Amino acid sequence: MNRITVIAAHVLAGSITIAVTAQQPAAPPPTPSLDGLTVEKVKDNLFVIRGAGGNTAVFVTASGVTLVDTKNPGWGQVLLDKVKTITDKPVTRVINTHTHYDHTSGNIAIPATVEIIAHEYTAKRLTEFTTVTGRGVTENVFRANPGKGLAKRTFTDKLTIGSGADQINLYYFGPAHTGGDAFVEFAALRVMHAGDVFARKAVPLMDKDNGGSGVQFAATVRKAVDGVKNVDTIINGHLPAQTTPAEMREYADFVADFVAQVQAAKKAGKTAAQAIEGYALPAKFKGYTAPDKTSAPYAQVIMDETK
Ligand SMILES: [Zn+2]
Repeated sequence: MNRITVIAAHVLAGSITIAVTAQQPAAPPPTPSLDGLTVEKVKDNLFVIRGAGGNTAVFVTASGVTLVDTKNPGWGQVLLDKVKTITDKPVTRVINTHTHYDHTSGNIAIPATVEIIAHEYTAKRLTEFTTVTGRGVTENVFRANPGKGLAKRTFTDKLTIGSGADQINLYYFGPAHTGGDAFVEFAALRVMHAGDVFARKAVPLMDKDNGGSGVQFAATVRKAVDGVKNVDTIINGHLPAQTTPAEMREYADFVADFVAQVQAAKKAGKTAAQAIEGYALPAKFKGYTAPDKTSAPYAQVIMDETK
């Protein structure tokens, strides 16, 4: 990985900010190893593997393993090796929640016989993405490895895979983090992977470069939490623990409030940077991180979308 990618990976993971990396030498890139990943059991046949990018869901079905998201460049084989510590069953299906490299790059280590599924926009963007709004240039392993790890099966609004205990429902509810955010429901388990639409309790990346939206973001979150009923547990893109639908509703309110504050700032003639400086975190949003200047590009996205 080059230095920009490493910095971007850390920023996307929320572990450090651009301001910090600008003042300190970049940490050496972590060498992919089994120890770099942790496993948490969510249900008897559902696990979350954390580390090295977005949270990966591991769903063990009668016929094989479905993975949701495949982590940073260089981590695909280690992810497959980590899955072997959970089950002897082979990985038979991969789902990508969205196009970002910290959720998709491990795809290139997936055997060609394994089905890779994504929203049609995400599938298209895999070979196209080069930047993330507010985060700059990102590494694209699909360009460096032509034809490898691409999503050949796609959906537009909803796709149901399997039935009974093994049923998976994929949903798309409109632009938010990107223009192809998939919500992955493990129906029998009452669990949903929300990807980076609900990555953490902070202002989300509104990645206009990859089809995302600021103004529509909160509505998309609400459509997901209201539209996928019978869910008790949410797996988030980057949080260290699962959340609940109630927390997802609160998060939609947080995003809507952020958007409203930015729009009020625009109306008052302020810039995106000034909107962030003037932002006040409402006390009711406990456990939320107030935005810093790294969120200014998303204030700009909102201002650009606001007539
Ligand atoms: Zn993302």
